[in-house]
Amino acid sequence: MAGFCRKLLTRQQEALPLQPVVLERAQHGISRRQISENALKVLYRLNKAGFDAYLVGGGVRDLLLGRLPKDFDVSTNATPDQIKQLFSNCRLVGRRFRLAHVLFGRDVIEVATFRGHHHQVNTNKNVSSQSSEGMLLRDNVYGTIEEDAERRDFTVNALYYNIADFSVVGFANGIKDLEARRLELIGDPETRYREDPVRMIRAVRFSAKLGLTISPRTEAPIHSLAPLLADIPAARLFEETLKLFLAGHGLETYRQLQQYGLFAPLFPEAAEVMGAGKNRYGRFIELALTNTDERIAQDMRVTPAFLYAALLWGPVETRTQAFMNEGGLNHYDAFMLATDDVLGRQVKTVAIPRRFSSVVRDIWQLQDRLTKRSGKRPHRLLEHPKFRAGYDFLLLRAELDPRLKELAEWWTDFQVANPVERQQPARGAQEAPAHAANESEPRKPRKRPRRRPRRKKDA
Ligand code: ATP
Ligand code: MG
Repeated sequence: MAGFCRKLLTRQQEALPLQPVVLERAQHGISRRQISENALKVLYRLNKAGFDAYLVGGGVRDLLLGRLPKDFDVSTNATPDQIKQLFSNCRLVGRRFRLAHVLFGRDVIEVATFRGHHHQVNTNKNVSSQSSEGMLLRDNVYGTIEEDAERRDFTVNALYYNIADFSVVGFANGIKDLEARRLELIGDPETRYREDPVRMIRAVRFSAKLGLTISPRTEAPIHSLAPLLADIPAARLFEETLKLFLAGHGLETYRQLQQYGLFAPLFPEAAEVMGAGKNRYGRFIELALTNTDERIAQDMRVTPAFLYAALLWGPVETRTQAFMNEGGLNHYDAFMLATDDVLGRQVKTVAIPRRFSSVVRDIWQLQDRLTKRSGKRPHRLLEHPKFRAGYDFLLLRAELDPRLKELAEWWTDFQVANPVERQQPARGAQEAPAHAANESEPRKPRKRPRRRPRRKKDA
């Protein structure tokens, strides 16, 4: 975005908090060619119907940075019902705040009515709109574009591209901050983190992904408020951690999470077994993330399951050992108990949907099975639907543990000597939001299990 606003801002006074700064069409590099056709259709139709219509948030930020936005969101003064009347392909969603989704096949353009201030949210004296920690619980009042901007998290996300005249409106110094590559929360940081603790991990995500520096006032409260993440529903944190680790900058994101004390509240057991993050379990996680980042850079698929398997491998190994030493269990029983225990505790902070946790178990169980090389066993193992992920996991372990090198090489050679047609990845894997499975080749279809003839009820 080389100097997209330099001329304008050097001539202008430092913007006051929230005061809008407008970049006219000729003063920024955003062209309509970079905006998705569907987003443009929505913007134009709203505009033609007499409403204000803006592209907003990350889409505008990324375009100004010269990056390809992940998605395009639209902000307007039309109410959800008015939006619905304009678009037949529209669905209203959201309980906490009603939004319109305009559907174009699989492409969804999210259209949100400008949101108002939270203190107006609730007029009912008996129901509080904030928790005792200051977290926002309700959120459903419409407002002006200024109010909408004030509610956003970071100044660089309070940017609006106006379809009426193709200008960019930046609030709260967002344009200048973006140019300085500075991540700054709007408003008082402590209050904003208390309202929504997820903003702390969003700070780290944007910093790592976009190469922005978190400003001193924005980073100051993070360490002490990090434990508030414990109050966030585990399902929401699952979605957030996917964005943290599967956006191509997982290693840098992980390091910053550690630096700000945000990793431990998300993955308490992993944090516990790796001490200050520098022992072999810490290095293993870094290796897994490096590997994931490389795969994403090469447009290869990755599965959240592989990453979770890596993040929680330390706790599983440690607990297996403890069950063997203290509980006198054999390795298999100790291991099975350990996997249940570790997953059971993890899902209380960051959920892991079953379609992924079953693959996590497969990857872990394969580690033991991969040590059994006699007779027909290795041939049968090649047919295992998650063989490839288990083998990749072994390769990763072998990078840190020289004792596993020989085993890993043996499996590499064995696959070369015994090529198998590989079957398509399982359905669950294809549903993974970022990428699907750590399997690059199609697999041979598995034999259908023989069905016992079902007895007819009335026979
Ligand atoms: P990404 O590239 O990851 O999509 P984004 O900035 O578009 O980045 P989204 O999660 O898609 O992030 O959110 C869209 C916009 O909504 C943000 O730019 C921001 O303005 C606002 N927003 C999202 N989450 C929050 C939050 N927790 N608090 C305040 N504003 C938020
Ligand atoms: Mg977005």
